[in-house]
Amino acid sequence: MKILFYDTKNYDQESFEKALSVFPDMKIEFIKPNLDSMTAALAKGFDAVCAFVNSSVDSSTLEILHQKGVKLVLLRCAGYNNVDLDAAKKLGIRVMCVPGYSPEAVAEHAMALALASNRRLYKAYNKVRENDFSLSGLMGFNFYQKTAGIIGTGKIGAAMCRICHGFGMKVIAYDVYENASIKDFVEYVSLDDLLSRSDLISLHCPLMESTQHMINIDTIRKMKDGVILVNTSRGALVKTDDLIEGIRMHKFAGVGLDVYEEEKNNVFEDRSDEILEHSITSRLLSFPNVIVTSHQGFFTREALHAIADTTLQNATDFLSGAENRNYVV
Ligand code: NAD
Repeated sequence: MKILFYDTKNYDQESFEKALSVFPDMKIEFIKPNLDSMTAALAKGFDAVCAFVNSSVDSSTLEILHQKGVKLVLLRCAGYNNVDLDAAKKLGIRVMCVPGYSPEAVAEHAMALALASNRRLYKAYNKVRENDFSLSGLMGFNFYQKTAGIIGTGKIGAAMCRICHGFGMKVIAYDVYENASIKDFVEYVSLDDLLSRSDLISLHCPLMESTQHMINIDTIRKMKDGVILVNTSRGALVKTDDLIEGIRMHKFAGVGLDVYEEEKNNVFEDRSDEILEHSITSRLLSFPNVIVTSHQGFFTREALHAIADTTLQNATDFLSGAENRNYVV
């Protein structure tokens, strides 16, 4: 099978080339451009394309892929909200993803963001570098015996519940389905209950119509004053303008974002020489209690190996017709 790999970074190529040794039927060509309707035609002569969370796999992209003979979209990520699934279905293009490649990688980053924003580690790091050893502006609060509210308790949310439990926190959760594996230490509550009781709120549900902007000014108003909000899931779960209003209302002790609404043009790019006009990101970063990282939750050695192995196994199973649970379409 010939796979065209879009938006290649050196670490992608390294992990996939390592994994290829056990998948002799797979041939990969690595290219730098990302997949969208402008670049889809490059896939002429390939059986499959490999895309990522920031690829634009909309109906026009899929139409071109179909014309060029592509039969499979291999997503090297868990989420698939960037793919027009109905269009793929109509065109007979199968879509596969890599669910749960390393839930702990993302959950550990979520806790890192929670701790960094609580104890202002980014500020402390800079202060000490400037020989400023004072503690002003660095006061946080103990997580021990506080309440963690986890929204979405699938693979990553459950891992976050376990981490918070390990910190000695009371863990409450909201999900449309309850996860039996964590029920001995997690109390499921309504969303409103979670919002009003939690000292730390961490988002781990997928982006869908029903979850878009679930954190908005109404839900923010229901939160405790001095709450910490962490989002490592998808940017559009949070309505950014409302978040900024909430920060200005002094609602949050800290906000940690690995994902945010306008991240698409930023993700994994070095834009340090650019002047970012109309940037919500810069507005967010102007607040002393906000830390933003650039979609790096997944970025551990273990996760990259698992992503490469599972993606190539997905392609192998597609080729042989073997049963595989990673089909999205
Ligand atoms: P998962 O499918 O295992 O879990 C998602 C959970 O959300 C499920 O339990 C589901 O029932 C729940 N859910 C669905 N609708 C809900 C709603 N309306 N309210 C509350 N809960 C709801 O997924 P996962 O592997 O745990 O991943 C969660 C999300 O994390 C992904 O959708 C993806 O967007 C994000 N993610 C981010 C990174 C990163 O690098 N930052 C990496 C991987 C995944």
